[in-house]
Amino acid sequence: MKVLAIGAHPDDIEIFMYGLLCLLKKNNIEIFMIIATDGSLGGKKYNNLIQLRKDESIEALKRIGIPKFLNLPDSRLGDEYSHKDKLRHEIDEISPDLIITHYHEDYHSDHRNLSKLVKDISSHNFPVLYCDTMMGINFLPNFYFDISEFFEEKKEAILNHQSQKPDRFIKLIELMNGYRSAQCNAKFGSFAEAYFFNSSFPFANINNILPQTIKIRKFDIDGNYGFL
Ligand SMILES: [Zn+2]
Repeated sequence: MKVLAIGAHPDDIEIFMYGLLCLLKKNNIEIFMIIATDGSLGGKKYNNLIQLRKDESIEALKRIGIPKFLNLPDSRLGDEYSHKDKLRHEIDEISPDLIITHYHEDYHSDHRNLSKLVKDISSHNFPVLYCDTMMGINFLPNFYFDISEFFEEKKEAILNHQSQKPDRFIKLIELMNGYRSAQCNAKFGSFAEAYFFNSSFPFANINNILPQTIKIRKFDIDGNYGFL
């Protein structure tokens, strides 16, 4: 089984998909990763930012694999037809059993455009699972994965992106992954990543590829009707 994660910018896989990729890898799924843009607009004080961000990504993702960089222009993803061709070539070459990428209503135009391009390219050939949006806005998940055992590793991965002031993203994932876990009434201090899958022929069901989703914890705990 092969899973391909495609992030728009050099730190997106770490922020939005890292925990699930760790779970998949633990289940002996082969992981491929693509970073679509060069990240050249993410920080103005560096004159070698593109290479710096590549180095940060390679270090951050080293426990999972080596990402491929498509070097498309930051904040102009999808402006030219060649971008779609480049993406199509990579996806076809890997021929994954599942693609994970951004949702088409996320906050950043590169995230939105990448999502639409990937969906178009995938068509009826590859199923697509969408990762959470920034702060979960416009996103109604139908898959939750407990990533607690990998949460420290996820934080370390994000902290490798020193050019991006990563402390703010640590706060972000503590909120987002904590909240997604709380939606399942999981214990306080546990963390989950949330995803959305929209079935389309012939991909009515992708459960055979995915790890076990978060365990249900009943609402009535020791007679306390407690939350968390
Ligand atoms: Zn991004």
